[in-house]
Amino acid sequence: MNPSAGTPNSDSSTAPSAPSPNRDSHAPATVILGGGPCGLMAAWELARAGQPVIVLEAGEEPGGLCITVEREGWKFDLGGHRFIARNPDLVERILGLMGDEMLRSTRKSVILTEGQAFEYPLSARDVLKKVDPAYAARAVADYLLEATRQRLAPRPDVSFEDWVVHRFGRTLYVTFFGRYTEKLWGIPPSRLSSDWAAQRISLLNLSDVGWRLLGMKKGTPRTYALEYLYPKEGFGRLFTRMAEEITGLGGEIRCGSFAQEITLGNGQATAVRYRRGDRMETIPCSHVVSTIPLPGLLRAIGRMTPEVETHAASLKHRGLRFMNLLLDLPDVSENTWMYVPDPQYLMTRIQEPRRRSPFMAPPGKTSLMLEIPCDPGTPVWEMPDEPLRDRCLDDLNALGIDVRDKVLGCFSTRAAHAYPIYHLGYAESVRRLLDEVDRIPNLFTAGRQGLFRYIFTDTAMEMGLLAARACMGEARRESVFELDCQPGVLETYSIV
Ligand SMILES: Cc1cc2nc3c(=O)[nH]c(=O)nc-3n(C[C@H](O)[C@H](O)[C@H](O)COP(=O)(O)OP(=O)(O)OC[C@H]3O[C@@H](n4cnc5c(N)ncnc54)[C@H](O)[C@@H]3O)c2cc1C
Repeated sequence: MNPSAGTPNSDSSTAPSAPSPNRDSHAPATVILGGGPCGLMAAWELARAGQPVIVLEAGEEPGGLCITVEREGWKFDLGGHRFIARNPDLVERILGLMGDEMLRSTRKSVILTEGQAFEYPLSARDVLKKVDPAYAARAVADYLLEATRQRLAPRPDVSFEDWVVHRFGRTLYVTFFGRYTEKLWGIPPSRLSSDWAAQRISLLNLSDVGWRLLGMKKGTPRTYALEYLYPKEGFGRLFTRMAEEITGLGGEIRCGSFAQEITLGNGQATAVRYRRGDRMETIPCSHVVSTIPLPGLLRAIGRMTPEVETHAASLKHRGLRFMNLLLDLPDVSENTWMYVPDPQYLMTRIQEPRRRSPFMAPPGKTSLMLEIPCDPGTPVWEMPDEPLRDRCLDDLNALGIDVRDKVLGCFSTRAAHAYPIYHLGYAESVRRLLDEVDRIPNLFTAGRQGLFRYIFTDTAMEMGLLAARACMGEARRESVFELDCQPGVLETYSIV
């Protein structure tokens, strides 16, 4: 899996490169809350059109969940990211921005369980080869039972558990999905909405596999994106480049600035108050594009009736802590990801950043990034690095990856808002909060946090673009919400 460099630069996508001479520097700016992919894309689009724009970002640097952190020459994303996208204009724009910094890589993933490494997405051939015959017979019998039941008397997919069991039977559900899902989300899969499964499970339908094995169906099934684009120096580089473009065009990005309050006058947003260090500051605004968590936005506009507060409080995120290990080894494995469903191990995924770009570690060295789901305030979130490292090294050893004597250093990174939790009933709460936002015509909410939607970076960027165009009267307000509402596996659409 050797990424090869080189995608041609298209300079049309980064023009114009100087601030518009028509800009009125005293006009109120569009204020963007949050400097992740969605907020930065909105700011870039506005700055390109010569509009005054100010981004308020709570973190120390722009990029949101997509930053890359560097330590002594080793680089780590917050969970390895890949650039996949369905919109050719977006792909062209990103290639134009990054030029030959963009690599093309291939993904290989496995599930480590039952002492075996199973291919992911699951393949029936691989599973049947690696499990014992009694298990295989049970899995096939369960599958046939479910397939027959669903044909005779279909039952609705309410929860994640329903969705998987109805398609694959209970045996495969328990081994490959139930435990992993509960470990990742921290709640039983019977309480998670089926929406998440429908969008994320890259798994071959078993009957589809059967037809292919019998030679009665041809072609490669498209269940997930095998290829992806990745910046040489880490995913975060995409957003430091974008930030350079924005400031080069006269836009402003204020890091360490936590948006706290939106002032309303005549039903419109007129100013944003934010905390920077120990000072509160105020900026007048023409429009606000919010990409911060939706409940936080509702608090900022002061629309918290007890009923709205109940809906806001029900929308929770799952946090992730990453244990980053710097290793004195050239390689650990050929896998981009290794999924770890078994509950006795802390991590859900093991990633080797060099598989995305060889520049993620110094020459001759590699690293591992372990994704550990946990929430702020819990013991695993708070634990100092050293005991957590030792526990992780024990887990790795038990999984057959012994790197204990090769560790040159370690550090943690954390993402408190990694995943929006799609609990049963979440959609109604999101709808209720969005109704409140809709009452303020010059306020837009977009992005993964802003719409409480499990989207990839490309969709977050497209939403930012549409929100900026809506501010300029060039797109409908609803277009942001309508983007990516269709059911189906997100991975299958990539044209990269
Ligand atoms: C582990 C993991 C792996 C992923 N892998 C991929 C992948 O391979 N490919 C892919 O395309 N996508 C991936 N994603 C998804 C991707 O990270 C998101 O789609 C993307 O970051 C969403 O961008 P956003 O701007 O909407 O939100 P965010 O990136 O969350 O940005 C929101 C920003 O708002 C800021 N903020 C919050 N509150 C305030 C406030 N009050 N004031 C000011 N600023 C505030 C935050 O600091 C943050 O910078 C992954 C996500 C995770 C968690």
